[in-house]
Amino acid sequence: MSKYDVTVIGSGPGGYVAAIRCAQLGLKTAIIEKYNTLGGTCLNVGCIPSKALLDSSHHYHDAVNHFEKHGIKTGKLSVDFKQMISRKDEVVSQTCEGINFLMAKNKIDVFTGVGSFKDATHINIAKADGNTETIESKNTIIATGSKPATLPFIKLDKKRVITSTEALSLKEIPKHLIVIGGGVIGLELGSVYKRLGSEVSVIEYMPTIVPTMDKMLSKELQKSLKKQKVKFYTSHKVSSVTGNAKEVVITAENKKGETVEFKGDYCLVSVGRRPFTNGLGLENAGVKLTERGQIETNAHLQTNIKNIYAIGDVVKGAMLAHKASEEGEFVAETIAGQKPHMDYNLIPGVVYTWPEVAAVGKTEQELKDAGVAIKVGSFPMRALGRARASMDLEGQVKVIADAKTDEILGVHMIGARAADMIAAAVVAMEFRASSEDIARTSHAHPTFTEAIKEACMAVENRAIHS
Ligand code: FAD
Ligand code: NAD
Repeated sequence: MSKYDVTVIGSGPGGYVAAIRCAQLGLKTAIIEKYNTLGGTCLNVGCIPSKALLDSSHHYHDAVNHFEKHGIKTGKLSVDFKQMISRKDEVVSQTCEGINFLMAKNKIDVFTGVGSFKDATHINIAKADGNTETIESKNTIIATGSKPATLPFIKLDKKRVITSTEALSLKEIPKHLIVIGGGVIGLELGSVYKRLGSEVSVIEYMPTIVPTMDKMLSKELQKSLKKQKVKFYTSHKVSSVTGNAKEVVITAENKKGETVEFKGDYCLVSVGRRPFTNGLGLENAGVKLTERGQIETNAHLQTNIKNIYAIGDVVKGAMLAHKASEEGEFVAETIAGQKPHMDYNLIPGVVYTWPEVAAVGKTEQELKDAGVAIKVGSFPMRALGRARASMDLEGQVKVIADAKTDEILGVHMIGARAADMIAAAVVAMEFRASSEDIARTSHAHPTFTEAIKEACMAVENRAIHS
Protein backbone atom coordinates (compact mmCIF):
# COMPACT_ATOMS: atom_id res chain seq x y z
CA MET A 1 0.00 0.00 0.00
CA SER A 2 1.36 3.45 -0.96
CA LYS A 3 1.98 5.75 2.01
CA TYR A 4 1.94 9.55 1.99
CA ASP A 5 2.55 12.44 4.35
CA VAL A 6 -0.36 14.30 2.75
CA THR A 7 -3.20 13.32 0.43
CA VAL A 8 -5.33 16.00 -1.17
CA ILE A 9 -8.85 15.08 -2.32
CA GLY A 10 -9.94 17.35 -5.18
CA SER A 11 -7.74 19.14 -7.72
CA GLY A 12 -9.31 22.60 -7.98
CA PRO A 13 -7.38 25.80 -7.20
CA GLY A 14 -7.55 24.83 -3.51
CA GLY A 15 -6.38 21.25 -3.92
CA TYR A 16 -3.70 21.51 -6.57
CA VAL A 17 -2.08 24.55 -4.93
CA ALA A 18 -2.10 22.79 -1.55
CA ALA A 19 -0.45 19.75 -3.15
CA ILE A 20 2.30 21.83 -4.78
CA ARG A 21 3.04 23.71 -1.55
CA CYS A 22 3.17 20.41 0.40
CA ALA A 23 5.63 18.98 -2.13
CA GLN A 24 7.74 22.16 -2.02
CA LEU A 25 7.97 21.72 1.76
CA GLY A 26 9.33 18.18 1.37
CA LEU A 27 6.13 16.27 2.16
CA LYS A 28 5.36 13.13 0.15
CA THR A 29 2.11 14.11 -1.54
CA ALA A 30 -0.74 12.50 -3.46
CA ILE A 31 -3.75 14.15 -5.11
CA ILE A 32 -7.03 12.40 -5.99
CA GLU A 33 -9.40 13.75 -8.65
CA LYS A 34 -12.55 12.00 -9.80
CA TYR A 35 -12.58 13.62 -13.26
CA ASN A 36 -10.05 12.91 -15.99
CA THR A 37 -8.84 16.49 -16.07
CA LEU A 38 -7.27 18.32 -13.14
CA GLY A 39 -8.16 21.90 -12.18
CA GLY A 40 -11.63 21.53 -10.63
CA THR A 41 -14.53 23.89 -11.19
CA CYS A 42 -12.30 26.91 -11.75
CA LEU A 43 -10.33 25.58 -14.70
CA ASN A 44 -12.95 23.30 -16.26
CA VAL A 45 -16.34 24.98 -15.77
CA GLY A 46 -15.71 28.19 -13.85
CA CYS A 47 -13.20 31.04 -13.86
CA ILE A 48 -11.26 30.13 -16.99
CA PRO A 49 -14.02 29.21 -19.49
CA SER A 50 -16.20 32.10 -18.32
CA LYS A 51 -13.36 34.58 -18.79
CA ALA A 52 -12.56 33.08 -22.21
CA LEU A 53 -16.16 33.73 -23.32
CA LEU A 54 -16.21 37.15 -21.64
CA ASP A 55 -13.05 38.11 -23.55
CA SER A 56 -14.38 36.83 -26.90
CA SER A 57 -17.77 38.50 -26.50
CA HIS A 58 -16.06 41.72 -25.35
CA HIS A 59 -14.03 41.82 -28.58
CA TYR A 60 -17.21 41.36 -30.62
CA HIS A 61 -19.11 44.00 -28.66
CA ASP A 62 -16.22 46.44 -29.08
CA ALA A 63 -15.98 45.75 -32.79
CA VAL A 64 -19.71 46.32 -33.29
CA ASN A 65 -20.10 49.33 -31.01
CA HIS A 66 -16.78 51.15 -30.76
CA PHE A 67 -14.48 50.40 -33.69
CA GLU A 68 -16.12 52.86 -36.07
CA LYS A 69 -15.59 55.71 -33.63
CA HIS A 70 -11.92 54.70 -33.44
CA GLY A 71 -11.82 54.98 -37.22
CA ILE A 72 -11.76 51.26 -37.93
CA LYS A 73 -14.08 50.00 -40.65
CA THR A 74 -14.90 46.32 -40.46
CA GLY A 75 -17.82 45.67 -42.77
CA LYS A 76 -20.63 43.42 -41.62
CA LEU A 77 -19.66 41.49 -38.51
CA SER A 78 -21.05 38.15 -37.42
CA VAL A 79 -20.41 35.64 -34.66
CA ASP A 80 -19.10 32.14 -35.31
CA PHE A 81 -20.40 30.79 -32.02
CA LYS A 82 -19.11 27.28 -32.62
CA GLN A 83 -15.59 28.68 -33.05
CA MET A 84 -15.99 30.85 -29.94
CA ILE A 85 -16.92 27.80 -27.87
CA SER A 86 -14.16 25.71 -29.38
CA ARG A 87 -11.52 28.41 -28.62
CA LYS A 88 -12.84 28.42 -25.04
CA ASP A 89 -12.44 24.62 -24.93
CA GLU A 90 -8.85 24.95 -26.16
CA VAL A 91 -8.06 27.51 -23.46
CA VAL A 92 -9.51 25.14 -20.86
CA SER A 93 -7.63 22.09 -22.06
CA GLN A 94 -4.30 23.94 -22.28
CA THR A 95 -4.77 25.33 -18.78
CA CYS A 96 -5.70 21.93 -17.34
CA GLU A 97 -2.72 20.35 -19.12
CA GLY A 98 -0.55 22.88 -17.29
CA ILE A 99 -1.66 21.35 -13.98
CA ASN A 100 -0.53 17.88 -15.12
CA PHE A 101 2.87 19.42 -15.85
CA LEU A 102 3.01 21.03 -12.39
CA MET A 103 2.08 17.75 -10.67
CA ALA A 104 4.86 15.90 -12.52
CA LYS A 105 7.37 18.72 -11.88
CA ASN A 106 6.66 18.58 -8.15
CA LYS A 107 6.65 14.76 -8.04
CA ILE A 108 3.07 14.58 -6.79
CA ASP A 109 1.31 11.24 -7.38
CA VAL A 110 -1.99 11.78 -9.20
CA PHE A 111 -4.82 9.26 -8.71
CA THR A 112 -7.90 9.40 -10.92
CA GLY A 113 -11.04 8.20 -9.14
CA VAL A 114 -13.47 9.05 -6.36
CA GLY A 115 -11.66 9.41 -3.05
CA SER A 116 -13.44 8.33 0.13
CA PHE A 117 -12.34 7.80 3.70
CA LYS A 118 -12.00 4.21 4.88
CA ASP A 119 -10.92 5.64 8.22
CA ALA A 120 -9.01 8.74 9.34
CA THR A 121 -5.70 7.58 7.82
CA HIS A 122 -6.79 5.39 4.87
CA ILE A 123 -8.42 6.55 1.65
CA ASN A 124 -10.10 4.38 -0.96
CA ILE A 125 -9.89 5.46 -4.58
CA ALA A 126 -12.77 4.06 -6.67
CA LYS A 127 -11.60 3.98 -10.29
CA ALA A 128 -13.64 4.12 -13.48
CA ASP A 129 -12.72 0.48 -14.32
CA GLY A 130 -14.44 -0.71 -11.13
CA ASN A 131 -11.23 -1.32 -9.18
CA THR A 132 -10.52 0.26 -5.82
CA GLU A 133 -7.06 1.15 -4.55
CA THR A 134 -6.37 2.09 -0.95
CA ILE A 135 -3.61 4.45 0.17
CA GLU A 136 -2.41 5.42 3.64
CA SER A 137 -1.95 9.06 4.56
CA LYS A 138 -0.75 10.78 7.74
CA ASN A 139 -2.70 13.91 6.80
CA THR A 140 -5.56 14.59 4.39
CA ILE A 141 -6.73 17.87 2.91
CA ILE A 142 -10.34 17.86 1.69
CA ALA A 143 -10.72 20.23 -1.28
CA THR A 144 -13.86 18.86 -2.91
CA GLY A 145 -15.33 22.24 -3.81
CA SER A 146 -18.94 23.05 -4.62
CA LYS A 147 -21.79 22.45 -7.07
CA PRO A 148 -24.49 24.83 -8.34
CA ALA A 149 -27.33 25.40 -5.89
CA THR A 150 -30.92 25.55 -7.06
CA LEU A 151 -34.37 26.33 -5.67
CA PRO A 152 -36.51 23.48 -4.32
CA PHE A 153 -39.22 23.84 -7.01
CA ILE A 154 -36.85 24.10 -9.98
CA LYS A 155 -36.15 21.04 -12.10
CA LEU A 156 -32.80 21.61 -13.81
CA ASP A 157 -33.22 19.77 -17.12
CA LYS A 158 -29.77 21.06 -18.17
CA LYS A 159 -31.12 21.74 -21.67
CA ARG A 160 -33.42 24.74 -21.24
CA VAL A 161 -33.23 25.21 -17.48
CA ILE A 162 -29.49 25.30 -16.98
CA THR A 163 -26.63 26.07 -14.60
CA SER A 164 -23.38 27.89 -15.39
CA THR A 165 -21.85 24.59 -16.54
CA GLU A 166 -24.28 24.24 -19.45
CA ALA A 167 -24.27 28.00 -20.13
CA LEU A 168 -20.56 27.71 -20.91
CA SER A 169 -21.14 25.13 -23.64
CA LEU A 170 -24.41 26.03 -25.37
CA LYS A 171 -24.90 25.03 -29.01
CA GLU A 172 -26.65 28.29 -29.92
CA ILE A 173 -26.95 31.87 -28.74
CA PRO A 174 -30.20 32.17 -26.75
CA LYS A 175 -32.89 34.47 -28.11
CA HIS A 176 -34.05 35.36 -24.61
CA LEU A 177 -31.96 34.24 -21.64
CA ILE A 178 -33.73 34.57 -18.33
CA VAL A 179 -31.28 34.68 -15.44
CA ILE A 180 -32.45 33.83 -11.94
CA GLY A 181 -30.02 35.51 -9.50
CA GLY A 182 -28.28 38.82 -10.13
CA GLY A 183 -25.01 37.73 -8.53
CA VAL A 184 -21.61 37.17 -10.07
CA ILE A 185 -22.42 34.23 -12.36
CA GLY A 186 -25.71 35.70 -13.56
CA LEU A 187 -24.15 39.04 -14.49
CA GLU A 188 -20.98 37.61 -16.07
CA LEU A 189 -22.74 35.00 -18.21
CA GLY A 190 -25.68 37.34 -18.81
CA SER A 191 -23.13 39.84 -20.19
CA VAL A 192 -21.61 37.22 -22.51
CA TYR A 193 -24.96 36.49 -24.16
CA LYS A 194 -26.19 40.10 -24.14
CA ARG A 195 -23.05 41.10 -26.07
CA LEU A 196 -23.67 38.28 -28.54
CA GLY A 197 -27.22 39.47 -29.23
CA SER A 198 -29.51 37.69 -26.75
CA GLU A 199 -32.22 39.50 -24.90
CA VAL A 200 -31.25 39.09 -21.22
CA SER A 201 -33.60 39.47 -18.23
CA VAL A 202 -32.20 39.20 -14.71
CA ILE A 203 -34.57 38.33 -11.86
CA GLU A 204 -33.09 39.11 -8.45
CA TYR A 205 -34.68 38.44 -5.07
CA MET A 206 -32.90 41.30 -3.27
CA PRO A 207 -33.51 45.03 -3.98
CA THR A 208 -30.06 45.36 -5.60
CA ILE A 209 -27.83 43.24 -7.85
CA VAL A 210 -24.53 41.91 -6.39
CA PRO A 211 -26.21 42.62 -3.03
CA THR A 212 -23.19 41.82 -0.84
CA MET A 213 -21.00 44.45 -2.51
CA ASP A 214 -20.80 48.18 -1.66
CA LYS A 215 -24.07 49.90 -2.66
CA MET A 216 -22.19 52.29 -4.98
CA LEU A 217 -20.98 49.29 -7.00
CA SER A 218 -24.44 47.66 -7.23
CA LYS A 219 -25.96 50.94 -8.39
CA GLU A 220 -23.27 51.84 -10.92
CA LEU A 221 -23.07 48.32 -12.36
CA GLN A 222 -26.84 48.11 -12.78
CA LYS A 223 -26.80 51.52 -14.51
CA SER A 224 -24.05 50.41 -16.92
CA LEU A 225 -25.64 47.06 -17.72
CA LYS A 226 -29.03 48.75 -18.23
CA LYS A 227 -27.35 50.96 -20.84
CA GLN A 228 -26.26 47.72 -22.52
CA LYS A 229 -29.98 46.83 -22.52
CA VAL A 230 -29.89 44.09 -19.88
CA LYS A 231 -33.31 44.11 -18.18
CA PHE A 232 -33.47 43.93 -14.38
CA TYR A 233 -36.28 42.74 -12.14
CA THR A 234 -35.01 43.30 -8.59
CA SER A 235 -37.10 42.54 -5.47
CA HIS A 236 -38.75 39.73 -7.46
CA LYS A 237 -39.32 36.35 -5.82
CA VAL A 238 -39.36 33.52 -8.36
CA SER A 239 -42.26 31.18 -7.68
CA SER A 240 -42.22 28.71 -10.58
CA VAL A 241 -40.10 27.57 -13.50
CA THR A 242 -41.65 25.34 -16.13
CA GLY A 243 -40.50 24.45 -19.57
CA ASN A 244 -40.55 22.20 -22.56
CA ALA A 245 -38.11 21.43 -25.35
CA LYS A 246 -38.38 24.97 -26.77
CA GLU A 247 -39.50 27.40 -24.11
CA VAL A 248 -39.22 28.21 -20.44
CA VAL A 249 -41.85 30.07 -18.45
CA ILE A 250 -40.99 31.67 -15.16
CA THR A 251 -43.30 33.34 -12.71
CA ALA A 252 -42.19 35.69 -9.98
CA GLU A 253 -43.85 37.88 -7.41
CA ASN A 254 -42.89 41.56 -7.52
CA LYS A 255 -42.68 44.01 -4.58
CA LYS A 256 -46.40 44.75 -4.84
CA GLY A 257 -47.28 41.07 -4.60
CA GLU A 258 -48.29 40.87 -8.27
CA THR A 259 -47.38 37.84 -10.35
CA VAL A 260 -45.12 38.59 -13.31
CA GLU A 261 -44.52 36.08 -16.11
CA PHE A 262 -41.31 35.73 -18.15
CA LYS A 263 -40.97 33.64 -21.31
CA GLY A 264 -37.64 32.77 -22.87
CA ASP A 265 -35.77 29.96 -24.58
CA TYR A 266 -33.18 29.42 -21.81
CA CYS A 267 -33.24 29.95 -18.04
CA LEU A 268 -29.91 30.21 -16.19
CA VAL A 269 -30.25 29.37 -12.51
CA SER A 270 -27.46 31.21 -10.68
CA VAL A 271 -28.59 31.50 -7.07
CA GLY A 272 -25.30 30.45 -5.46
CA ARG A 273 -23.36 27.23 -4.99
CA ARG A 274 -23.41 24.57 -2.29
CA PRO A 275 -20.48 22.70 -0.71
CA PHE A 276 -19.88 19.26 -2.22
CA THR A 277 -19.13 16.28 0.05
CA ASN A 278 -21.11 13.45 -1.58
CA GLY A 279 -19.37 10.10 -1.62
CA LEU A 280 -16.46 11.24 0.59
CA GLY A 281 -17.29 8.76 3.37
CA LEU A 282 -16.85 11.48 6.01
CA GLU A 283 -18.72 9.31 8.52
CA ASN A 284 -15.98 6.65 8.31
CA ALA A 285 -13.42 9.19 9.52
CA GLY A 286 -15.83 10.97 11.89
CA VAL A 287 -15.55 14.38 10.16
CA LYS A 288 -18.34 16.81 11.13
CA LEU A 289 -20.36 19.10 8.84
CA THR A 290 -21.95 22.43 9.72
CA GLU A 291 -25.70 23.00 9.47
CA ARG A 292 -25.08 24.49 6.00
CA GLY A 293 -23.34 21.34 4.77
CA GLN A 294 -19.84 22.84 4.90
CA ILE A 295 -17.00 20.92 6.48
CA GLU A 296 -16.55 22.34 9.96
CA THR A 297 -13.06 23.74 10.54
CA ASN A 298 -11.21 25.72 13.21
CA ALA A 299 -8.93 28.74 12.67
CA HIS A 300 -6.22 26.39 11.33
CA LEU A 301 -8.69 24.91 8.79
CA GLN A 302 -8.45 21.67 10.75
CA THR A 303 -11.59 19.54 11.05
CA ASN A 304 -12.71 17.91 14.30
CA ILE A 305 -10.33 15.06 13.32
CA LYS A 306 -6.79 16.33 13.98
CA ASN A 307 -5.02 15.04 10.85
CA ILE A 308 -7.81 16.03 8.41
CA TYR A 309 -8.01 19.58 7.05
CA ALA A 310 -10.46 21.24 4.61
CA ILE A 311 -10.15 24.24 2.29
CA GLY A 312 -11.89 26.18 -0.47
CA ASP A 313 -15.56 26.16 -1.43
CA VAL A 314 -16.28 23.18 0.84
CA VAL A 315 -15.59 25.30 3.97
CA LYS A 316 -17.01 28.62 5.13
CA GLY A 317 -16.13 31.93 3.45
CA ALA A 318 -16.20 33.41 -0.02
CA MET A 319 -16.39 30.87 -2.83
CA LEU A 320 -13.43 32.22 -4.79
CA ALA A 321 -10.51 30.50 -6.49
CA HIS A 322 -7.86 32.73 -4.93
CA LYS A 323 -9.37 32.23 -1.46
CA ALA A 324 -9.19 28.45 -1.99
CA SER A 325 -5.55 28.72 -3.13
CA GLU A 326 -4.53 30.89 -0.16
CA GLU A 327 -6.11 28.34 2.15
CA GLY A 328 -4.26 25.55 0.32
CA GLU A 329 -0.91 27.20 0.98
CA PHE A 330 -1.94 27.98 4.56
CA VAL A 331 -2.78 24.35 5.36
CA ALA A 332 0.32 22.95 3.64
CA GLU A 333 2.50 25.26 5.73
CA THR A 334 0.56 24.38 8.90
CA ILE A 335 1.09 20.66 8.29
CA ALA A 336 4.81 21.33 7.70
CA GLY A 337 5.00 22.92 11.16
CA GLN A 338 5.04 26.57 10.08
CA LYS A 339 2.79 29.29 11.52
CA PRO A 340 1.17 30.90 8.45
CA HIS A 341 -1.38 33.71 8.53
CA MET A 342 -4.41 34.55 6.39
CA ASP A 343 -6.38 37.78 6.38
CA TYR A 344 -9.85 37.07 5.00
CA ASN A 345 -10.62 40.80 4.99
CA LEU A 346 -8.03 41.20 2.24
CA ILE A 347 -9.44 38.66 -0.21
CA PRO A 348 -10.55 40.80 -3.18
CA GLY A 349 -13.84 40.21 -5.00
CA VAL A 350 -14.15 40.84 -8.73
CA VAL A 351 -17.02 40.80 -11.23
CA TYR A 352 -15.72 40.48 -14.79
CA THR A 353 -18.48 42.44 -16.49
CA TRP A 354 -17.63 45.54 -18.51
CA PRO A 355 -17.10 47.84 -16.78
CA GLU A 356 -15.33 45.53 -14.33
CA VAL A 357 -16.12 45.66 -10.65
CA ALA A 358 -13.59 45.00 -7.89
CA ALA A 359 -13.45 45.48 -4.15
CA VAL A 360 -11.40 44.73 -1.07
CA GLY A 361 -11.99 45.36 2.63
CA LYS A 362 -15.15 46.67 4.22
CA THR A 363 -18.12 48.31 2.51
CA GLU A 364 -19.31 51.74 3.63
CA GLN A 365 -22.44 50.16 5.10
CA GLU A 366 -20.47 47.57 7.10
CA LEU A 367 -18.31 50.31 8.63
CA LYS A 368 -21.32 52.51 9.40
CA ASP A 369 -23.09 49.55 11.02
CA ALA A 370 -19.97 48.86 13.11
CA GLY A 371 -19.95 52.52 14.24
CA VAL A 372 -16.52 53.25 12.70
CA ALA A 373 -15.96 56.94 11.88
CA ILE A 374 -14.85 57.11 8.25
CA LYS A 375 -13.95 59.54 5.51
CA VAL A 376 -14.60 58.74 1.87
CA GLY A 377 -12.90 59.86 -1.34
CA SER A 378 -14.21 59.08 -4.84
CA PHE A 379 -12.87 59.80 -8.28
CA PRO A 380 -14.72 59.33 -11.59
CA MET A 381 -13.01 57.42 -14.41
CA ARG A 382 -14.33 59.96 -16.92
CA ALA A 383 -11.87 62.54 -15.52
CA LEU A 384 -8.88 60.41 -16.59
CA GLY A 385 -7.01 61.11 -19.82
CA ARG A 386 -6.50 57.40 -20.33
CA ALA A 387 -10.23 56.69 -20.00
CA ARG A 388 -10.97 59.27 -22.70
CA ALA A 389 -8.26 57.83 -24.94
CA SER A 390 -9.79 54.36 -24.76
CA MET A 391 -13.44 55.52 -24.56
CA ASP A 392 -13.94 53.68 -21.25
CA LEU A 393 -15.48 56.56 -19.35
CA GLU A 394 -17.81 54.73 -16.99
CA GLY A 395 -17.17 54.09 -13.33
CA GLN A 396 -15.33 55.40 -10.32
CA VAL A 397 -12.94 54.47 -7.54
CA LYS A 398 -14.06 54.92 -3.95
CA VAL A 399 -11.61 54.79 -1.04
CA ILE A 400 -12.82 54.56 2.54
CA ALA A 401 -10.37 55.50 5.29
CA ASP A 402 -10.55 55.60 9.07
CA ALA A 403 -11.49 59.17 10.10
CA LYS A 404 -8.89 59.27 12.86
CA THR A 405 -5.93 57.19 11.67
CA ASP A 406 -6.46 57.58 7.88
CA GLU A 407 -5.83 53.80 7.45
CA ILE A 408 -7.53 52.53 4.27
CA LEU A 409 -10.40 50.23 5.30
CA GLY A 410 -12.03 49.53 1.94
CA VAL A 411 -11.55 50.19 -1.76
CA HIS A 412 -14.45 49.75 -4.20
CA MET A 413 -14.00 50.32 -7.89
CA ILE A 414 -15.95 49.99 -11.11
CA GLY A 415 -14.41 50.72 -14.48
CA ALA A 416 -12.10 49.44 -17.17
CA ARG A 417 -9.39 47.10 -15.80
CA ALA A 418 -10.66 47.28 -12.21
CA ALA A 419 -10.03 43.52 -11.94
CA ASP A 420 -6.30 44.10 -12.31
CA MET A 421 -6.16 47.41 -10.47
CA ILE A 422 -7.60 46.03 -7.22
CA ALA A 423 -4.24 44.34 -6.53
CA ALA A 424 -2.76 47.76 -5.76
CA ALA A 425 -5.42 48.30 -3.09
CA VAL A 426 -4.83 44.83 -1.61
CA VAL A 427 -1.08 45.49 -1.32
CA ALA A 428 -1.69 48.93 0.20
CA MET A 429 -4.07 47.47 2.78
CA GLU A 430 -1.76 44.53 3.55
CA PHE A 431 0.86 47.10 4.53
CA ARG A 432 -1.80 49.10 6.39
CA ALA A 433 -1.31 52.15 4.22
CA SER A 434 -3.07 55.41 4.97
CA SER A 435 -4.92 57.17 2.17
CA GLU A 436 -2.20 59.85 2.37
CA ASP A 437 0.50 57.20 1.74
CA ILE A 438 -1.15 56.34 -1.58
CA ALA A 439 -1.98 59.97 -2.38
CA ARG A 440 1.75 60.71 -2.14
CA THR A 441 2.77 57.77 -4.39
CA SER A 442 3.58 58.40 -8.05
CA HIS A 443 1.19 56.63 -10.45
CA ALA A 444 2.18 56.42 -14.11
CA HIS A 445 0.35 58.80 -16.46
CA PRO A 446 -1.83 58.19 -18.36
CA THR A 447 -3.21 55.06 -16.65
CA PHE A 448 -6.47 53.98 -15.04
CA THR A 449 -4.54 53.54 -11.76
CA GLU A 450 -4.41 57.32 -11.42
CA ALA A 451 -8.04 57.04 -10.27
CA ILE A 452 -6.80 55.20 -7.14
CA LYS A 453 -4.33 57.97 -6.30
CA GLU A 454 -6.93 60.68 -7.01
CA ALA A 455 -9.58 58.89 -4.89
CA CYS A 456 -7.05 58.80 -2.03
CA MET A 457 -6.41 62.52 -2.55
CA ALA A 458 -10.18 63.06 -2.56
CA VAL A 459 -10.33 61.62 0.98
CA GLU A 460 -8.82 64.97 2.05
CA ASN A 461 -10.73 66.94 -0.64
CA ARG A 462 -7.58 67.55 -2.64
CA ALA A 463 -8.12 65.57 -5.86
CA ILE A 464 -6.44 67.44 -8.71
CA HIS A 465 -8.57 66.48 -11.71
CA SER A 466 -12.13 66.62 -10.35
P1 FAD B 1 -13.29 23.09 -7.01
O1 FAD B 1 -12.62 23.95 -7.98
O2 FAD B 1 -14.76 22.94 -7.08
O3 FAD B 1 -12.60 21.66 -7.14
C1 FAD B 1 -13.03 20.55 -6.43
C2 FAD B 1 -12.58 19.30 -7.15
O4 FAD B 1 -12.78 18.18 -6.29
C3 FAD B 1 -13.36 19.00 -8.41
O5 FAD B 1 -12.49 18.80 -9.49
C4 FAD B 1 -14.12 17.71 -8.08
O6 FAD B 1 -14.29 16.87 -9.20
C5 FAD B 1 -13.20 17.08 -7.08
N1 FAD B 1 -13.85 16.11 -6.18
C6 FAD B 1 -14.97 16.29 -5.46
N2 FAD B 1 -15.23 15.19 -4.70
C7 FAD B 1 -14.23 14.31 -4.96
C8 FAD B 1 -13.92 13.01 -4.49
N3 FAD B 1 -14.67 12.41 -3.55
N4 FAD B 1 -12.83 12.40 -5.01
C9 FAD B 1 -12.05 13.00 -5.94
N5 FAD B 1 -12.29 14.24 -6.40
C10 FAD B 1 -13.36 14.88 -5.92
N6 FAD B 1 -13.73 32.30 -8.67
C11 FAD B 1 -12.84 33.30 -8.82
O7 FAD B 1 -12.07 33.56 -7.90
N7 FAD B 1 -12.76 34.02 -9.98
C12 FAD B 1 -13.60 33.79 -11.01
O8 FAD B 1 -13.50 34.45 -12.04
C13 FAD B 1 -14.56 32.75 -10.88
N8 FAD B 1 -15.40 32.48 -11.89
C14 FAD B 1 -16.29 31.45 -11.76
C15 FAD B 1 -17.17 31.22 -12.80
C16 FAD B 1 -18.10 30.20 -12.71
C17 FAD B 1 -19.04 29.94 -13.86
C18 FAD B 1 -18.12 29.38 -11.54
C19 FAD B 1 -19.08 28.24 -11.44
C20 FAD B 1 -17.26 29.62 -10.49
C21 FAD B 1 -16.34 30.67 -10.59
N9 FAD B 1 -15.47 30.98 -9.55
C22 FAD B 1 -14.58 32.01 -9.68
C23 FAD B 1 -15.47 30.22 -8.30
C24 FAD B 1 -14.32 29.19 -8.31
O9 FAD B 1 -14.46 28.35 -9.44
C25 FAD B 1 -14.34 28.36 -7.04
O10 FAD B 1 -14.33 29.22 -5.91
C26 FAD B 1 -13.12 27.45 -6.97
O11 FAD B 1 -13.09 26.57 -8.06
C27 FAD B 1 -13.13 26.63 -5.68
O12 FAD B 1 -11.99 25.84 -5.65
P2 FAD B 1 -11.92 24.49 -4.81
O13 FAD B 1 -10.53 23.97 -5.00
O14 FAD B 1 -12.42 24.69 -3.45
O15 FAD B 1 -12.98 23.50 -5.50
P1 NAD C 1 -23.99 34.68 -5.87
O1 NAD C 1 -24.12 34.41 -4.43
O2 NAD C 1 -22.94 35.60 -6.36
O3 NAD C 1 -25.36 35.30 -6.42
C1 NAD C 1 -26.57 34.67 -6.25
C2 NAD C 1 -27.65 35.72 -6.39
O4 NAD C 1 -28.88 35.06 -6.46
C3 NAD C 1 -27.69 36.69 -5.22
O5 NAD C 1 -27.74 38.00 -5.71
C4 NAD C 1 -28.97 36.30 -4.51
O6 NAD C 1 -29.59 37.38 -3.85
C5 NAD C 1 -29.80 35.76 -5.66
N1 NAD C 1 -30.85 34.85 -5.28
C6 NAD C 1 -30.81 33.87 -4.33
N2 NAD C 1 -32.01 33.24 -4.28
C7 NAD C 1 -32.79 33.80 -5.22
C8 NAD C 1 -34.13 33.58 -5.65
N3 NAD C 1 -34.89 32.66 -5.08
N4 NAD C 1 -34.61 34.35 -6.65
C9 NAD C 1 -33.86 35.32 -7.22
N5 NAD C 1 -32.59 35.56 -6.84
C10 NAD C 1 -32.07 34.82 -5.86
O7 NAD C 1 -23.91 33.24 -6.57
P2 NAD C 1 -23.57 32.83 -8.06
O8 NAD C 1 -23.64 34.01 -8.94
O9 NAD C 1 -24.43 31.64 -8.34
O10 NAD C 1 -22.08 32.36 -7.94
C11 NAD C 1 -21.73 31.26 -7.07
C12 NAD C 1 -20.37 31.45 -6.49
O11 NAD C 1 -19.38 31.40 -7.51
C13 NAD C 1 -20.25 32.79 -5.80
O12 NAD C 1 -19.92 32.55 -4.46
C14 NAD C 1 -19.15 33.50 -6.49
O13 NAD C 1 -18.25 34.07 -5.58
C15 NAD C 1 -18.44 32.44 -7.32
N6 NAD C 1 -18.10 33.07 -8.61
C16 NAD C 1 -17.15 34.04 -8.61
C17 NAD C 1 -16.87 34.70 -9.78
C18 NAD C 1 -15.82 35.78 -9.75
O14 NAD C 1 -15.04 35.82 -8.82
N7 NAD C 1 -15.77 36.65 -10.73
C19 NAD C 1 -17.54 34.41 -10.94
C20 NAD C 1 -18.53 33.44 -10.90
C21 NAD C 1 -18.79 32.77 -9.71
